[in-house]
Amino acid sequence: MAFESLSDKLQNVFKNLRGKGRLSEADVKTALKEVKMALLEADVSFKVVKQFISAVQERAIGQDVQNSLTPGQMVIKIVNEELVKLMGSETTEISLKPASDMTIIMMAGLQGAGKTTTTAKIAGKLKAKGRKPLLVACDVYRPAAIKQLQINGEKQGVPVFSMGENHKPADIAKAAVAYAAKNDQNVIILDTAGRLHIDEDMMSELIEIKDAVDVHQTILVVDAMTGQDAVNVAGMFNDKIGIDGVIITKLDGDTRGGAALSIRAVTGKPVLYVGMGEKLSDLEQFYPDRMASRILG
Ligand code: GDP
Repeated sequence: MAFESLSDKLQNVFKNLRGKGRLSEADVKTALKEVKMALLEADVSFKVVKQFISAVQERAIGQDVQNSLTPGQMVIKIVNEELVKLMGSETTEISLKPASDMTIIMMAGLQGAGKTTTTAKIAGKLKAKGRKPLLVACDVYRPAAIKQLQINGEKQGVPVFSMGENHKPADIAKAAVAYAAKNDQNVIILDTAGRLHIDEDMMSELIEIKDAVDVHQTILVVDAMTGQDAVNVAGMFNDKIGIDGVIITKLDGDTRGGAALSIRAVTGKPVLYVGMGEKLSDLEQFYPDRMASRILG
């Protein structure tokens, strides 16, 4: 599970804080220095850590904490509140148009991030909400990706629209809209091609899709295991094509988890869901407060 090492380290810092009757400014500063180290080791972006620590410090050195009967507890509470704030405070849902309209969602991400799996996971969630999703195979470079989407679609009981490998993704997206309208589907989820690294071709292809159809939500899938790279990727996608939200996959793995803490602060875009396993049911809504509790133990 992600955050294990961060959790252990923070709990150690907190144990020391709780043990002290009164807290001097120096005690708080020492504790926050340790919190800072722990966050950096968890692969949280440097800039984010700096801002976080100064926000906590500003509140933790004040009179309220000094005069409190349980100053250690108050500092811990402040760290908790600032962590929740860092992750965006509120839970954000994928925005959908009314069921009478067609909602088009475009999934983007690097190859291997978990995009195709997550696309099918999302379709399952939307179906459970009473929507009628259509999965669309826009990754025309990897026949295996089309096949994988078809298999996953079948598992979820959701139709998959494909035109094979010989059409442009933007044309496939357009044809999918016509198909969905005819077949009474009201959410279209486009599974686009990923590449190993961000490149101009990938970006222009996504922009072409956006120009061809009315994409309502662009959702980026990033892999938690890639740490700060995931955050850089999110920043670049947001700059180039504009994203509405992020899904972080593989948080079930042995990852330091920093991406979950940094993405919102770096991109300004919310984390919508987190991937917690390979099974199609392993997708959890992102609750900043629960995630903070998980981290603080
Ligand atoms: P794509 O290239 O981005 O479409 O990636 P895939 O959907 O093919 O996923 C790549 C690999 O990551 C597959 O083996 C998935 O089963 C796995 N995967 C995806 N999401 C998760 C997750 O949340 N947790 C774990 N453990 N594995 C995942």
